[in-house]
Amino acid sequence: MLKFYNTLSKKVENFTSINPPHVGMYTCGPTTYDFVHIGNLRTFIFEDILQRVLEISGYEIKRVMNITDIDDKIIKGAKEKGIGISEFSAPFERAFMMDLAKLNIKYANIFPKATEYVDHMIKYIEELIRKKLSYVEKDGSVYFDISKFPEYGKLSGLDKRELKSGTRILSDEYSKDDAQDFALWKSVQADEVGYNSPWGRGRPGWHIECSVMSQQYLGDTFDIHAGAVDLIFPHHENEIAQSEGKTGKKFVNFFMEGEHLLVGGQKMAKSAGNFYKLKDLEERNFDPLAFRYLCLTAHYRERLNFTWASLQAAQNALNNLREEIRGWNEEIGLSEQPKGSTDQFWQRFLDVANNDLNIPQAVAVVWEMVRSNTPTTSKYQTLLKMDKVLGLGLDKYLGKPIEVPANVSRLVTERESIRKSGDFKKSDKLRHKIKKLGYDIEDTPEGPRVKRI
Ligand code: AMP
Ligand code: ZN
Repeated sequence: MLKFYNTLSKKVENFTSINPPHVGMYTCGPTTYDFVHIGNLRTFIFEDILQRVLEISGYEIKRVMNITDIDDKIIKGAKEKGIGISEFSAPFERAFMMDLAKLNIKYANIFPKATEYVDHMIKYIEELIRKKLSYVEKDGSVYFDISKFPEYGKLSGLDKRELKSGTRILSDEYSKDDAQDFALWKSVQADEVGYNSPWGRGRPGWHIECSVMSQQYLGDTFDIHAGAVDLIFPHHENEIAQSEGKTGKKFVNFFMEGEHLLVGGQKMAKSAGNFYKLKDLEERNFDPLAFRYLCLTAHYRERLNFTWASLQAAQNALNNLREEIRGWNEEIGLSEQPKGSTDQFWQRFLDVANNDLNIPQAVAVVWEMVRSNTPTTSKYQTLLKMDKVLGLGLDKYLGKPIEVPANVSRLVTERESIRKSGDFKKSDKLRHKIKKLGYDIEDTPEGPRVKRI
């Protein structure tokens, strides 16, 4: 049974979709004022794993991820460069797509951009004004009146926060401590980036885009909305207020928010300047998938402190895994006497993955299977299935022995015959020689397996 922690109920709940086998899933995407950092990417990896776990259960996912291509920082950045906002955003958006590909993160079916939905947003806001959930200020800005939505706070809990209805927040930056009326539409001067609206020239606030673009593609009520924990308040809370206020129906069944990536114990953030981009990792010769592996070793609801040493450990583990599986071969396996099967590993893998995405345990099961002496034919197929969830691209290595240079392979053959003759001292000497050339040997029932060190 598939179970996920639901921020709405603060409990782990059984998951079923509204219209099986379909699942509608919306994930808040990047704001394209800069390159994404690996903290953002941790969240996108978590969402990718979520999608893959649903798929392995037979669900078909329709996934929408927005691109916030208009906000205060984008406008400021474009102005500084003297270019338009879409020209300013384009390279960051392209780089983002490449980062996703490098990390084996599946693309969403739709990546709607905020600037392309301004008309829809205006209509949506008009409806909220008609329903008296929003009001227009003298300057032409429009606010959502949180006092008119009694359930405001049901996602984040408002006990520690002061409800300040009637006080307003206009900026895209927000206070975590106050619950205030928030801007749906912000009036702008004639020379600023903006759009014409019934309330004068202005531009949309940040929250409205996600209500509009999610419901546009997934309907009034859909299955899963995901992001990172900093979005619970106010972003997701505000989305609920707008959406449920407008339709009178439940907005989303499952809210799932992943924990942050930290550096030195602090949240990795562009504003704090303590961030790394995927490119920084690559420049230090790390494989992007080593970062994915690192993310898999922590549960998504736990913070993960990033260090170069932990990334190195993840890279080593991934390298070892790749080397292990190179020697697996279906044909050799088929001629073996079956010693057991991998069914129990697969079942345990599924059990933990389905239990609120306990991927660290799933990775542990992978290693247990790899080290077990079950026939490689069975391991081969099971690992392929497991990697559909993990997304480590292991099929590129599975059953694909490395090309060993001729001098090394001659030494390996020589050592094998010496070893078989029982002269272990001499065979060890040869192993040492082979090691110096950068290769190691594992003696298996199928013969010597050569690995790169
Ligand atoms: P942004 O581009 O800032 O809107 O963020 C895109 C996504 O990354 C959102 O879901 C954020 O909540 C998430 N995010 C931002 N910082 C971090 C972090 N340090 N760790 C994990 N996720 C983050
Ligand atoms: Zn959003």
